[in-house]
Amino acid sequence: MKDEMLKMLRGNISDRVVEAMERTPRELFVPESIRYMAYEDHPLPIGEGQTISAPHMVAIMCDVLDLRDGMKVLDVGTGSGYHAAVMADLVGPEGHVYSIERIPELVVYARRNLREAGIENVTVVEGDGSCGLPDHAPYDRINVAATAPKVPEPLKEQLKVGGKLVIPVGTCYQELVLVIRTDRGFDLEHHGGVVFVPLIGDHGFEI
Ligand code: SAH
Repeated sequence: MKDEMLKMLRGNISDRVVEAMERTPRELFVPESIRYMAYEDHPLPIGEGQTISAPHMVAIMCDVLDLRDGMKVLDVGTGSGYHAAVMADLVGPEGHVYSIERIPELVVYARRNLREAGIENVTVVEGDGSCGLPDHAPYDRINVAATAPKVPEPLKEQLKVGGKLVIPVGTCYQELVLVIRTDRGFDLEHHGGVVFVPLIGDHGFEI
């Protein structure tokens, strides 16, 4: 199953990202009862009404972000911790991923999954990631795995110049948007239609 997933990604996704996904044990980030489905290419339930994103979506977002060794990354919507784990591999031991999740049960779940996978360069924080995580800003890259009504201003402000932010935007129709901070402002790129759970918070949707 894992080989099938990697085969599907090869050719469409950069080798660096495919290799990071090859090294990251996705089966440790899904509930034990559905572990046999870990490498199927669709989202899976992880409890609390939330889902782990499909492998191709994690791959596309990592590719679009162009993660490099030593980068400092903010990940909004930790969920299972899988996406954070793949990004942690891509930034290497000199890099770090700060991952923020609003549901306390998932914070505990993700920390346990990351520990069991032996991943040490991810810090999971509980809070409203629509406001970013100012304590560790500015970031080289920001990844948001939940859809927002518009790109949250605090996330743009917490990007370094030259930094990149990927986020799904929209309600019924959602689009994956890449925001690049330049010395003159922000450039936008659109990367197609997607489906994500809502970003709930001060700069997201109301509960
Ligand atoms: N990246 C995850 C899947 C994300 S699902 C993985 O690899 O498994 C989206 C997650 O975003 C959910 O866990 C949801 O609780 C969380 N979320 C929604 N709004 C949030 C907010 N304002 N701050 C932090 N997390 C949020």
